[in-house]
Amino acid sequence: MRTQVGIIGSGPSGLLLSQLLHLEGIDSVILERRTQDYVLGRIRAGVLEQGMVDMLRKAGVAERLEKEGLVHEGLSICFGDRRQRIDLKKHTGKVVTVYGQTEVTKDLIDAREAAGGTLIYEAENVQIEDLDSDTPALTFLKDGKQQRLTCDFIAGCDGFRGVSRRYIPEDKLKIHERVYPFGWLGILSETRPVSDELIYVNHWRGFALCSMRSPTRSRYYIQCAYDEDLEEWTDDRFWDELRIRLPSAAAESIEMGPSIEKSIAPLRSFIAEPMRHRHLFLAGDAAHIVPPTGAKGLNLAASDIYYLSRALTAYYKDDSRTDHMDSYSRDCLKRIWKAERFSWWMTTMLHKFPDQSSFDRGMQLAELDYLFDSEAAQASLAENYVGLPY
Ligand SMILES: Cc1cc2nc3c(=O)[nH]c(=O)nc-3n(C[C@H](O)[C@H](O)[C@H](O)COP(=O)(O)OP(=O)(O)OC[C@H]3O[C@@H](n4cnc5c(N)ncnc54)[C@H](O)[C@@H]3O)c2cc1C
Repeated sequence: MRTQVGIIGSGPSGLLLSQLLHLEGIDSVILERRTQDYVLGRIRAGVLEQGMVDMLRKAGVAERLEKEGLVHEGLSICFGDRRQRIDLKKHTGKVVTVYGQTEVTKDLIDAREAAGGTLIYEAENVQIEDLDSDTPALTFLKDGKQQRLTCDFIAGCDGFRGVSRRYIPEDKLKIHERVYPFGWLGILSETRPVSDELIYVNHWRGFALCSMRSPTRSRYYIQCAYDEDLEEWTDDRFWDELRIRLPSAAAESIEMGPSIEKSIAPLRSFIAEPMRHRHLFLAGDAAHIVPPTGAKGLNLAASDIYYLSRALTAYYKDDSRTDHMDSYSRDCLKRIWKAERFSWWMTTMLHKFPDQSSFDRGMQLAELDYLFDSEAAQASLAENYVGLPY
């Protein structure tokens, strides 16, 4: 088999890249190790920056998003008995849109299939070969048969636990990482969200977040130990703990119901650089991870794909032009480091750290007090939350 761009991974990064390339007349093949049902069943992010919404429009997959996405002009931050609304629209003129990653993935898969795109699911043991030549290849096992896909370029869109990052030689790859000493226990329930906008809570028992996926589907999180046993968290125990952490008005009015999904996510900040080695380009979680506090993971995947699709389009459409390829890693990382900073800052401000000293707690409260009292601080949060420009 032969294609122009071989893509490993059918998460949002790989699918969006494939769709944007298709619209430019550039051929790609996606290799995914899981089944389509598994990919479509993953419950993950849900807050889209304006830049990502614009990318989905450009990709021609925003029809359902325009109808079903919930536009949010603000969010609330709470600590003690104080609640501060951050007015995104007033401070930035921009908004965010709540629309589940599952829906984004579904829309992209539908579009790729409608256009006759090649998505190969259950591709096992994907390996990269001949990366130093002009005809690199992806090899994989499909239905017990060994296959080889020759490409011009390879996009490593295979997430944090994928294979592509390891093809950047160790002496060239620099890893920056922080693992946080807690996780998020999240549930999804078919209940009316407690608020029209997201509520972030700093509570002395730990962080809490009220989020949503639709007017009838809520997503709630509480900070937990990173090695918490999920089995020990019955729905009742979850709701009790969440209500303790919420401001009283929200705790009293919250609609509770059985969870339809419950999981624990670890929190990590991670950056691998550079994001390119010869014909291989990393994008999305394959190159970086943020703690979900700033709602940036999915949005960063989209901005990487903006730069990668621009680089590949320039190469194929503009006489093998390579300047955007040469600057790909630099262009992405400039924005990634700032999103990492924002996610780390939100996480540090809002969580309970097990080894927190009285000084650390004082700093945290001073940070929140400053944010609540300063329009400039609120404008800075808003500017980062809606997403820095590409
Ligand atoms: C539990 C969880 C909750 C999250 N919550 C939020 C949130 O609330 N807000 C937020 O902004 N972000 C959140 N994120 C992050 C966000 O979901 C990711 O940033 C986003 O999915 C990145 O997209 P991606 O396409 O780069 O990677 P992925 O979505 O991870 O997709 C990678 C794909 O590659 C496939 N793959 C992996 N290895 C191979 C291989 N060897 N061969 C072939 N295919 C392979 C995988 O099966 C997967 O389909 C969350 C992530 C997780 C894990």
